[in-house]
Amino acid sequence: MLFSHMLTIIFATGNPHKVEEVNSIMNMDDVLLKNLNDIHWTTEIIEDGVTFKENAFIKANTLFKEGHPCVLAEDSGLVVEALNGAPGIFSARYAGSQKSHADNNIKLLQELSTHQNRKAKFTATICYIEHGKIHYFIGECQGEILSELDGDKGFGYDPLFKPNGYDRSFAILGDRIKSNISHRAKAFIAFTEFLKQKNLK
Ligand code: IMP
Repeated sequence: MLFSHMLTIIFATGNPHKVEEVNSIMNMDDVLLKNLNDIHWTTEIIEDGVTFKENAFIKANTLFKEGHPCVLAEDSGLVVEALNGAPGIFSARYAGSQKSHADNNIKLLQELSTHQNRKAKFTATICYIEHGKIHYFIGECQGEILSELDGDKGFGYDPLFKPNGYDRSFAILGDRIKSNISHRAKAFIAFTEFLKQKNLK
């Protein structure tokens, strides 16, 4: 045990896939991550920031203001060079607010169809608020957008994103590799290190 007691952190997400991924990255027995479903949170949090950092802060601060002392939010997305950074903060709703991950992938392929430059990166920004103190952690994963879907594991743009140094998409590589090299992995590894260092002081 690293902490003398269990540290409970509310993770501002309703996405069970993210919680699963993060739990396996952090791998800390004495940190209990509760998500929005666990605390019966039903109010929609409007993410109207213009950067990943602003949106992560909005989500974390909304929960902090509701009386949760330790809160964590993550905002992530895909940034495509030839599309001037799109879909960026609009990654989840690129093809429209009611559309699916599959629709977003189709739109991305269409938008890139006339471009040679396929360079892209996933980026993740964590905002952690502990008793009012705000901390940020950022992770990035560089790669390229494939010309067709490759695999069906994972979520979002995984079937179209090939990380640098690999031949296949995240959707084929799966969580074992993703949890070492992804944007989210890098941000959460930095966050986990921060918690460990803080507790050693
Ligand atoms: P968020 O949940 O508001 O952070 O939205 C992130 C969106 O970016 C998701 O809905 C996906 O479309 C995309 N995204 C973020 N991380 C990943 C990933 O690891 N794989 C695939 N798509 C991702």
